Amino acid sequence: MIAKIGIDLGTANTSIFLPGKGIVLTEPTVVAVDELTNKILAVGQEAKDMIGKTPGDIKIYRPLREGVIADYKSTLAILRYFLNKIKTSKFFKPILVISVPAGITSTEKKAVIDAAIEAGAKEVYPIREPLLAALGADLPINLPSGQMIVNIGGGTTEIAVISLGGIVTWDSIRIAGDKFDEAIREYLRRKFNLAVGEKTAEIVKVKIGCALINKETENLNMNVNGINILTGLPVTVKIYSQNISEALQRNLKEIILSIKKVLSQTPPELISDIMEKGIVLSGGGALLRNLDQMIYEYTGVPTFVAEDPLFCVARGTGKIIDKLDLYRRVLLSHK
Ligand code: ADP
Ligand code: MG
Repeated sequence: MIAKIGIDLGTANTSIFLPGKGIVLTEPTVVAVDELTNKILAVGQEAKDMIGKTPGDIKIYRPLREGVIADYKSTLAILRYFLNKIKTSKFFKPILVISVPAGITSTEKKAVIDAAIEAGAKEVYPIREPLLAALGADLPINLPSGQMIVNIGGGTTEIAVISLGGIVTWDSIRIAGDKFDEAIREYLRRKFNLAVGEKTAEIVKVKIGCALINKETENLNMNVNGINILTGLPVTVKIYSQNISEALQRNLKEIILSIKKVLSQTPPELISDIMEKGIVLSGGGALLRNLDQMIYEYTGVPTFVAEDPLFCVARGTGKIIDKLDLYRRVLLSHK
């Protein structure tokens, strides 16, 4: 019998945390729908593998693409799929702690709760993502001291300063991993007349992507297959890390602008804490090479990548589940 479950319902990936077990499951937040019959064909990794390869009448959805529940039906399908996979019992309904974007509206929050209840939960606690990310990064969020977390996911980057278990200042922008992939595609088209798909762009980003060039990244390169848009023929082009850094500059500077905005709105006492302890990066986007260094160079605040940044939010749900009492204030502030 499973009594409590933590869910990081991310725009790119969903992870499940079980007390005593840790993260038991991670799969893409993707749903494949047959447009003709309106039936859900696949969820998770199986659906992601279909991206860019479907016939016209199969549609691939990323229902939380920009960090909000855009589509109730596919969100419900995703929650059902995950809860089934970890075999929750029909008779002992679980308590769910589930991540939601910092800027969630009350209507969207209600949609998350309703979908989770419909998928079989007994009680649902939606908690804002930056708080979970900070908890998962082992930041002491309950202290009267400022902690800055920047969580760069697939659809959104959420920036927050946390003190005494609550979010003091924050911003959320729709520039994150997906926009990075888009920028890489545009750049390759413009610079090399090379057309590549969404998935290839993501692979290039992970393999050779970087924010700033230094000794370790200057020679990183890979051969990329695509179509030459002038001839229409398949080609292979050697792409360097430097290219990807150029492609991403504009998006990265937008993120840094938003960090600066949050810093400028934060009370001075908390700024002093942040100067001492630094900015912590989480989410898959935090894995972009030298991003910590770039943020430090542009803001003057030391910046660190959390351990295992992809799983901070899921670990955060786990911490809340394990100690529902200790985090009562966080839970109440989300009612
Ligand atoms: P979400 O919480 O929105 O589901 P995640 O935190 O799971 O997002 O991060 C997913 C994003 O991180 C994707 O855009 C993915 O391409 C990106 N990502 C994963 N690994 C890396 C890496 N090594 N370098 C750069 N980006 C990465
Ligand atoms: Mg996330």
